[in-house]
Amino acid sequence: MNESNGREQIVAIGKSLFNRGLTAGSSGNLSVRLDDDWLITPTNSCLGALDPARISKIDSKGHLLSGDPPSKESFLHLAMYEQRPKSNGVVHLHSTYSAAVSCMAGLPPLNCLLPLTAYFVMKVAPLPLIPYYRPGDLELASAIRTLAATHHALLLANHGPIVSGISLEAAVDVIEELEETAKIFLLLHGKQASPLNDDQIKALKREFRNAD
Ligand code: ZN
Repeated sequence: MNESNGREQIVAIGKSLFNRGLTAGSSGNLSVRLDDDWLITPTNSCLGALDPARISKIDSKGHLLSGDPPSKESFLHLAMYEQRPKSNGVVHLHSTYSAAVSCMAGLPPLNCLLPLTAYFVMKVAPLPLIPYYRPGDLELASAIRTLAATHHALLLANHGPIVSGISLEAAVDVIEELEETAKIFLLLHGKQASPLNDDQIKALKREFRNAD
């Protein structure tokens, strides 16, 4: 990814997510992989009002190379990239419906959302739930590493989702599908749902494979 294109892409996608209520205040962070380094949204920045020149550039250890200090959640992004060499973009949000699901008790830890729609199965599932860690706890990166090699989408308990993709746009596409499925899941709470069965899921997984 060309650096100036990466900066513009982070600004445009941040604004789109913020304007549609998918991230509030200064929550959420976006990153893209450059040839040797990464661009990531700065700490305490509002995704709706990013300045391309102030976006943080970091190395693989998370050290700041230029721009404002990076998001305190940079280490989550780097853990995803470390395990997913084909991923070029990562998005992490505290989006309302996914965050609400992440606070529910008794969810199956290896696939915490029901396979309610074909698009969720094609783009997201299975979705593991990572146990709660306090913000900034580096153990969270270790927990991400154990699952990221085999899962491009993870839900962090009492927190929100993190998704990687072959591009930042691809990662955002997946996190939006996840958020919509979480909304449907909550709308159906207490009602009798009819999720897709194993044969239907296998047929979808055969036909559609994730590119990263
Ligand atoms: Zn977070």
